[in-house]
Amino acid sequence: MKNLSANDSESGKSKIPVAEGLFHLPSSAEDKPYLIAAKCTQCGYISFPKIPVCPHCAVQDTMEEIHLSGRGKIDSFTIVWSTLPGFEAPSVQSLIKLEEGITIWSLMTGCEASEEALEIGMDVELVIGKVKEDQDHQIVSYQFKPVKNV
Ligand SMILES: [Zn+2]
Repeated sequence: MKNLSANDSESGKSKIPVAEGLFHLPSSAEDKPYLIAAKCTQCGYISFPKIPVCPHCAVQDTMEEIHLSGRGKIDSFTIVWSTLPGFEAPSVQSLIKLEEGITIWSLMTGCEASEEALEIGMDVELVIGKVKEDQDHQIVSYQFKPVKNV
């Protein structure tokens, strides 16, 4: 069993993934996060989150685990003005086309929650960030942030 928790250096709170098997939570600065997906060895179909059977081939044992690069471009986005208690609003949800060719929804971070802060086609990259916290824990999940083009 892998140790899934890591401590937040600022708050000292232990980080807990929002769900297991979605992403790799880095345990050090050198350790990079990645999304855990599955790719069909017969037709190349990629699923995130991973699924056990390819919906196209529909046979057993064709899906193998792959790690996604975490780089992509904004395909669409929306500002979320209200949310469940304990979550931050406003926030930005974005539809992201990953390098691997699949499109996923993700919470955005590192940008203002405004229509002007983001553009369709903007380069984004994966980070692991807080979605919620209690006294002792930070619940963390995958998020994407704009890549600052220098
Ligand atoms: Zn397939």
